[in-house]
Amino acid sequence: MLNKIRELADKQGSRMTELRHYFHSNPELSWQEVETTRKIAEIIEELGFENIRTGFGGTESGLTADLNLEKEGPMVALRADIDALPLTEENDIPYRSTRDGVMHACGHDAHTAMLIGAATILSGIKDDLPGRVRLIFQPAEEHGLKSGAETMIGEGVLDGVDAIAGLHIWSSVPSGKIGFRSGPIMASADVWEITVKGKGGHGSMPHNAIDPTIAAATVITTMQTVVSREIDPQDTVVLSIGQIESGTAANIIPESATLKGNIRTTSPETRAAIPEKMERIMKGICTAMRCEGTLRFTNIYPVTVNDENLSDLARSTAVEMLGENCVEKAPLLMGSEDFSYYGEKVPGTFFLLGCGNKEKGTNNQHHSPRFNIDDDVLPSGIAMLAGFAWKFLSEQGK
Ligand SMILES: [Zn+2]
Ligand SMILES: [Zn+2]
Repeated sequence: MLNKIRELADKQGSRMTELRHYFHSNPELSWQEVETTRKIAEIIEELGFENIRTGFGGTESGLTADLNLEKEGPMVALRADIDALPLTEENDIPYRSTRDGVMHACGHDAHTAMLIGAATILSGIKDDLPGRVRLIFQPAEEHGLKSGAETMIGEGVLDGVDAIAGLHIWSSVPSGKIGFRSGPIMASADVWEITVKGKGGHGSMPHNAIDPTIAAATVITTMQTVVSREIDPQDTVVLSIGQIESGTAANIIPESATLKGNIRTTSPETRAAIPEKMERIMKGICTAMRCEGTLRFTNIYPVTVNDENLSDLARSTAVEMLGENCVEKAPLLMGSEDFSYYGEKVPGTFFLLGCGNKEKGTNNQHHSPRFNIDDDVLPSGIAMLAGFAWKFLSEQGK
């Protein structure tokens, strides 16, 4: 069956490239993916999927659809994110973005097309599938504060789902390679804000004021000891301060100072332990320097943790379908993904489909105005999604 899926995926290549270019030309920002959703719905309805739901998070964005609803057996979900980013494309290509200031610069256009390709194959072989499939076309992966995944989960898209898989096209992995990893594959991302309150006064008379700026500066340098002295050196954490605000003039000691930063961790336990550590050090410094400090944490995305069995299954699907040569170990990425939310609820696996090819100019960074994709890798992605679904359902049915 996997050979057949691979052949069918190869045949989908040119049609899904066209579709990818359509999505690329017509990008839509997070929670505004209305035309994108409509286009997906048109195709998915024709393929005979049932239980089609659209419009999540109080918007007209996002779609889920089921195959083989009447069948007994497990259900596997396949997820693609569908949103674009707020930047202006600098690629000179025939399918360049037609919308100024909006661009598919992360590859979600390819994710959408590949999941449609996989859906086409799965609907064609649905009688051979020993279980059910749910497609999740997810809006707003890039939003950060209102995650598409978290929102859709809240609206029940994982109900009845036994396992979930997703992929990300990845420009720093060479074309023709697929990266797998069990355990953490992408970091968590959270942001924080510290306010240090002192007492304003004249710059010439510091003894009559309480200077929050020098306390904030001490917080900045000492905060790095959270990473260097309190975390296992083999446990990767990044703490960055991105913004400092303090004062209005050279001769005034201000009332308060504000620091803003972000923190990335690669284990859920470490992520949970970080706020206490930061707060303790910050409070200690502020107290010692007669200031009052407060820390506010805003959680963005959790660590994306891959289930070991599912990751092995995905890897062996790739070896059987595409050969040992295409498989490599994915790097642990310090970027983050809201696929992580699915993995917190059901076993999940997320893998990287390489699309980096220097000659084709497809090795530029994600989120850059020159990001582009090697369309020749689409059939492998289509095959992987459909092949994984078949393999998971077959193994479960045993
Ligand atoms: Zn992105
Ligand atoms: Zn992305």
